Amino acid sequence: MIPFLDLKRINARYAPGLEAAAKRVIESGWYIRGEAVERFEREFAAYCGSKYAVGVASGLDALTLIFRAYKALGVLKEGDEVIVPANTYIASILAVSANGLRPVLVEPDPQTYNLDPNRVEEKISPKTRAILAVHLYGQCADMGALHEVAKRYGLKLIEDAAQAHGAKHFGVKAGTLGDAAGFSFYPGKNLGALGDGGAVTTDDTELAETVRILGNYGSAKKYENRYKGYNSRLDEIQAAFLSVKLAALDEVVARRNAIATYYLEKINNDKLVLPVVGEGNEHVWHLFVVRTKEREALQRFLSDRGIGTMIHYPIPPHKQEAYREWADISLPLTEQIHREVLSIPLYEVLEAEEIETIVTALNGF
Ligand SMILES: *Cc1c(COP(=O)(O)O)cnc(C)c1O
Repeated sequence: MIPFLDLKRINARYAPGLEAAAKRVIESGWYIRGEAVERFEREFAAYCGSKYAVGVASGLDALTLIFRAYKALGVLKEGDEVIVPANTYIASILAVSANGLRPVLVEPDPQTYNLDPNRVEEKISPKTRAILAVHLYGQCADMGALHEVAKRYGLKLIEDAAQAHGAKHFGVKAGTLGDAAGFSFYPGKNLGALGDGGAVTTDDTELAETVRILGNYGSAKKYENRYKGYNSRLDEIQAAFLSVKLAALDEVVARRNAIATYYLEKINNDKLVLPVVGEGNEHVWHLFVVRTKEREALQRFLSDRGIGTMIHYPIPPHKQEAYREWADISLPLTEQIHREVLSIPLYEVLEAEEIETIVTALNGF
């Protein structure tokens, strides 16, 4: 059996480091906002090439707090419109609507499944104030073109980098391609904690400080509250785990890239559409997603051969009950992608024999 994802096997490689990190935190007697978080924030900012990284409780919180901070700073206000990809995980959009901002859905580029800059411009109105680009599956959106549009219309450009730790676009890393970025350290992400976690990266001093304050009850100084804030912080123990795993992230990305390259070379089946890497992109292969008109049959065929798969994602945000106000919107490309995609196993600890089994099965479908 080849599971779609095997976190036990992935984390087993780090066991001695993780155990030592846990012991250090346990014995420190300090579990929130301490040295381990400070250290990880410094390391993660250096890794991304950003001035700041602020640890928060999850990827959704990272994005939500970016928008909330822009509101607190008077850059955004309730009712403003934010361009978002229609083809994304729902958390991207929740972060916008949670702040009383209006998500405006835009269809993807049919090759990369990421936000299509040509279609963004058609959706810009006098109320548009920001673009949220998602680096879906681990490759960056077309940030050069999006940056150009954002600049022309005076919009903030925000990255949802939850799937893209270490991804590059023309040599520049995710997390530094816009005004601010949200990362997730959910266990299944390429850089995953052993629980929830997230971070905001930015070069903007005021924004970084405001995100940090908002995530700490709105308080910059103990018992003095500037904003009606939240509690959203990265735990010391998760930060300590993440420092251990961050040290190996480049190697993880290289291994995932080698497997993806092998898949792209060896998978050969007219029934399948393979992923396409956009111009200038260094993909980190959070997910390897194929497309087929016969998805249910393919999923069953692989399952019969002991290969686990997942669908990212089965229902687009505009068809979710949570957004029933969008039930009548038609987004044919997004809908087609959601009907046809299937994610096959790709993770750094897959063995050569397992990789071969997966290729053989896909070619035999
Ligand atoms: C995982 C994910 C999120 C949310 O991150 P959490 O840490 O699970 O809250 C947001 N956007 C995308 C694209 C994601 O994949």
